[in-house]
Amino acid sequence: MKPLLPWLQANWDHLNRYIQQKRIPQALLITGHQGLGKQHLAMQFAYSLLCTQLKGNGLSCGYCDSCLLLDVQTHPDLINIQPEEQGKAIGIDQIRSLITKLTLKPQFEAYRVVTINPAEQMTRSAANAFLKCLEEPTERTVLLLVTDKPGKLPATIVSRCQKLAVPTPDKEVGINWLKQQSIKDDPEILLSLAQGAPLLAQQYGNDETLKLRNQCFNAWMNLAKQQDNPVAIAESWQKLAEPSLIVFWMTSWLIDLIKCSYQTNAGNFYNPDLNQHLKALAQQLDLIGLYKLYDLLLLSRQRLDTPINKQLLFEEILIQWYDLNRST
Ligand SMILES: [Zn+2]
Repeated sequence: MKPLLPWLQANWDHLNRYIQQKRIPQALLITGHQGLGKQHLAMQFAYSLLCTQLKGNGLSCGYCDSCLLLDVQTHPDLINIQPEEQGKAIGIDQIRSLITKLTLKPQFEAYRVVTINPAEQMTRSAANAFLKCLEEPTERTVLLLVTDKPGKLPATIVSRCQKLAVPTPDKEVGINWLKQQSIKDDPEILLSLAQGAPLLAQQYGNDETLKLRNQCFNAWMNLAKQQDNPVAIAESWQKLAEPSLIVFWMTSWLIDLIKCSYQTNAGNFYNPDLNQHLKALAQQLDLIGLYKLYDLLLLSRQRLDTPINKQLLFEEILIQWYDLNRST
């Protein structure tokens, strides 16, 4: 197991208290934004529940038989449940198979740990079946549910779990950690794009997300100058990156533009590196028009959860942006 991520110390202290007091919750719901290390925390806890030679701070030893089995992902008392394909649901068959496994005793002396991540991806019937695990606890079994969308879980499940919320770390902590991860992009900008979530910022660094974002921003600026075609850009964007990401970027540019219009303190911008461009643009744009576009972007974020045509969604936004700049 990797060392505990530095910003998770307070969460770990909480989990360690459960261990020291030997009051392990039967079910724990770990929540927090994407990229904060919820799964890392769940695995640290799983290691500690299964390790036979715990260290003083409650963390696993790293060399006992259990730790070694966990490292090679063959510990029989750890069951990880996740979608069979990324982005897909966790189906009823997966939960039924879990229930069957739970009818047997744990194979070792310690606990048996089940992780479900992302828990909100359980289908309705899977969630109903899972409720049985919560209502009829099995011996020495700990259920760890991990989600960044707890609101999408049935209340009947949430109410039966102890909760642990992973907070967004202070900016300094996130930046210092990112500096140690050998990423070539500016950690502050990555962290800002990831809304403060260090692991997501790291992923953005590895995926060259900043390059994509700059590419989109250049196209967006070209539209403002009436030098490109909104429909053509909409078409290229739907292949370029995750649509929700592009909609988030546009929303962040718009919020920064609105802030520039009010001439607020530069420290709070989403995109400090784009500030010069946005400031110049804000001077010529109509504030009411900016708010209208902001409303459309918020609506578009909701629409992305539905099977909407992405090209049309981008077209509507980009045409409005193009027209907003033309009318100045
Ligand atoms: Zn160990």
